[in-house]
Amino acid sequence: METVLFIDFDGTISPVDISNTFFTRFAGADARKAVEEWKAGEIGSVECLKREVSAYRGDIFRLARYARRQPIDPGFGMLLEESRKHGVDVIVVSDGLDFYIQPFFEEHGFEVKVFSNQLEVSDGKTILRFPHYNEACGKCANCKSSHVEAEKQKGKRIIYVGDGLSDKCAASRADVVFAKGDLRCYCLANGIAFEAFENLSDVADRIRSGLASLLRPS
Ligand SMILES: [Mg+2]
Ligand SMILES: [Zn+2]
Repeated sequence: METVLFIDFDGTISPVDISNTFFTRFAGADARKAVEEWKAGEIGSVECLKREVSAYRGDIFRLARYARRQPIDPGFGMLLEESRKHGVDVIVVSDGLDFYIQPFFEEHGFEVKVFSNQLEVSDGKTILRFPHYNEACGKCANCKSSHVEAEKQKGKRIIYVGDGLSDKCAASRADVVFAKGDLRCYCLANGIAFEAFENLSDVADRIRSGLASLLRPS
């Protein structure tokens, strides 16, 4: 059976949550308030992103430059390598923006498939797009569960790797979940089985030591 590994970006591949850190640091109180409300579940990601971007008064290209300076989890390359060896496709799913995710991967020299929200600059104006918005969810801007479901429909097994609240929808539909941070708390609170990890070399090790045992039906 074919397997797809979906992986979150902010806080997982990039140990720094780039959008939250950038906007809460450089876009002032309005952006911080939006993030607080999002964390409390009062607003969805579309509204949060719109408010963060509109609260930011500086040059938005600074966000892309900021992303290029952030470190990558040192195990990411190993995870790609082990996945490739075992015939596992890797897809990055993010409720953040391609605008900083692409320069980050470019800087670190990785080419990966990414589904995310989009920010484009046209005539000096920032335009946000949410091509993967899912009405049925209503909370996420890019509901990761849609991408997971699309692969499940093709009969594939799903491994999911993430650290946060934007991973909740997808994690509950995956066959195997690797969790840290808030996602771990969510899995514990909701009875979702998971493998704990600290960094991506832990996940790579588990894939190397055998997909069969990882995907054994419980
Ligand atoms: Mg995250
Ligand atoms: Zn969702």
